[in-house]
Amino acid sequence: MERMSDAAAVALPGSELYEKHIKRWSKAAEKPASFILLPACSEDVSRSVLFCNNHGLDFAVCGGGHATSGSSSSNGGVSIDLSRMNRVTVDGEAKTITAEGGALWRDVDREAEKYGLAAVGGTINHTGVGGLTLGGGYGYLTPAHGLVVDNLLAAEYVLADGRIVTASEKENTDLFWAARGAGTCFGVATSFVYRAHEQKDPVWAAMLRFENDQLAAVIDYGNKFLDICDEKSLLLVAFTKVPGFGDAPSLVAVCFYNGREAVGRSFYDVLFQLNPSVLKVGEIPYAAMNAYLNDSLYHGLRRSMKGSAFMVPLNFGTVKTIHEEFTDFVFDHTDADMSTALIEYYPFKNLIKTPQTATAFANRGAYGNLVFVITWTKEELDDICRGKARRWTNLVQEEFQKIKSAMVSAGEVDSVTEDGIGEYMNYDGFGSDGDKMFGVNYPRLRELKRRYDPKNLFNKGPKLI
Ligand SMILES: Cc1cc2nc3c(=O)[nH]c(=O)nc-3n(C[C@H](O)[C@H](O)[C@H](O)COP(=O)(O)OP(=O)(O)OC[C@H]3O[C@@H](n4cnc5c(N)ncnc54)[C@H](O)[C@@H]3O)c2cc1C
Repeated sequence: MERMSDAAAVALPGSELYEKHIKRWSKAAEKPASFILLPACSEDVSRSVLFCNNHGLDFAVCGGGHATSGSSSSNGGVSIDLSRMNRVTVDGEAKTITAEGGALWRDVDREAEKYGLAAVGGTINHTGVGGLTLGGGYGYLTPAHGLVVDNLLAAEYVLADGRIVTASEKENTDLFWAARGAGTCFGVATSFVYRAHEQKDPVWAAMLRFENDQLAAVIDYGNKFLDICDEKSLLLVAFTKVPGFGDAPSLVAVCFYNGREAVGRSFYDVLFQLNPSVLKVGEIPYAAMNAYLNDSLYHGLRRSMKGSAFMVPLNFGTVKTIHEEFTDFVFDHTDADMSTALIEYYPFKNLIKTPQTATAFANRGAYGNLVFVITWTKEELDDICRGKARRWTNLVQEEFQKIKSAMVSAGEVDSVTEDGIGEYMNYDGFGSDGDKMFGVNYPRLRELKRRYDPKNLFNKGPKLI
């Protein structure tokens, strides 16, 4: 192999470096690579890809390591770990942020904050910019500014043949289109340039705990929320264990408002009137907001993350079934009592202004999302826990497809939503078939895949070849 730069490294099994970098956010997603390459620049990445290709070695690219599907791990092959490529720079004048492909969102938040700026990024700041961006990317600023990919101005890519190219609206435009939603299938993104947004003021947030017999009232509010919301608001509702409130999953709402306390609190007044226990409330910096939920979503447990869209109004019967089954499940398997079911109400009006075919991302729609983060420690529970995530996701997905079809027939759905696939690839959809994951964008992606990666070296995402 052509020598990598001095700042790069190779980690072999048994070494401390290997033990550190073979880890993933979910322990269940870790696989024993033969060795780990830690490139420090784009040229190193290019050498790494060529080396694997020339020797017929399977490889996986690791950004922040959060994919619970194992798509950033290789069993017996090579792990190309981008963690040494985590530099972030900000151009305060141009309002752009450049992040290397192995940066985490907290690296981006920290640098952007110095300039009174913010990027649309994930809601948990230890996720990687790499996987989250290339699959679409939802965050607290999505209601105002769209997906992460809607704010992507350019990406530098190392392609299967080792070339280092820029993809943007001006250069390699078809690659740029593919990068925004199907980006993991086309190469290694070594850097991203994002449009940044003014964020000088703090945001307001509250975490509220309700009694389980208030489920109907909270779901009812969620269903109305997507009508009354504005682009500064975002609501998450979870079933999750809350320390100090017993072993049963609690019903928790996270209310976000990109504005001052007085406006935010009155916006969510209906929820406050239900007299919840207020777990947290107040104004905080945007960067701190992206760490708001970090406490329960830490590294090192076994996790499976799977989700499906739901049409609004969310059917209370379905929620009740899931809530009951979820509660029974964590009582029967106390090892899994850190599991969470999360209903995401992302105001979507701005999202669906962009046509479904404008980027490869094919999940724009006037709908919400329900995601399960099943969490456990014992390997022997892998099948049961993953099975539960699949069962509940399928339940929601079947209902989504049924209701959407009926609404399409009745002419009640806009054209963007009509083509929305109803599943977010980054919630463990990496093993899916390409047509399922990319819908109307699948034919064009297949064609581009044949052009950019005919040997399917980047094969850990949805099947395109
Ligand atoms: C705790 C948690 C919170 C989350 N919150 C959000 C959220 O708020 N919003 C949201 O949209 N999603 C969220 N997700 C989903 C998240 O988008 C995916 O898990 C995503 O894959 C994470 O990217 P990563 O780089 O950390 O993961 P990795 O496991 O490193 O990578 C995921 C995939 O991307 C590929 N990849 C990573 N970096 C690159 C790169 N630079 N070039 C090419 N391929 C690359 C990998 O090969 C792999 O296939 C969350 C996930 C978790 C676990």
